[in-house]
Amino acid sequence: MAMKTKWANCSKKRNLTINKLMKYLPEKLLKYIVFHEIAHLKQKRHNDIFWEIISRKFNNYEDLEKELFIYWFKLASDDSSINY
Ligand SMILES: [Zn+2]
Repeated sequence: MAMKTKWANCSKKRNLTINKLMKYLPEKLLKYIVFHEIAHLKQKRHNDIFWEIISRKFNNYEDLEKELFIYWFKLASDDSSINY
């Protein structure tokens, strides 16, 4: 599950940077991404502890990750067709 850093990134200084494509996402996915990044403040890596934190609030996180993956390829390809 490596697609997360494309949507958003949380720096060591706790600045949350979000991808402009996120504005096209449904609200439930936006909430998931924000929660995911906040969880990284507690747990940097995608280990068992991390997914335990995530699953406490989003027990369907695997479905959400899949949806984000699909959205990424759809939106990223649409976006490049605009820019080039
Ligand atoms: Zn992550």
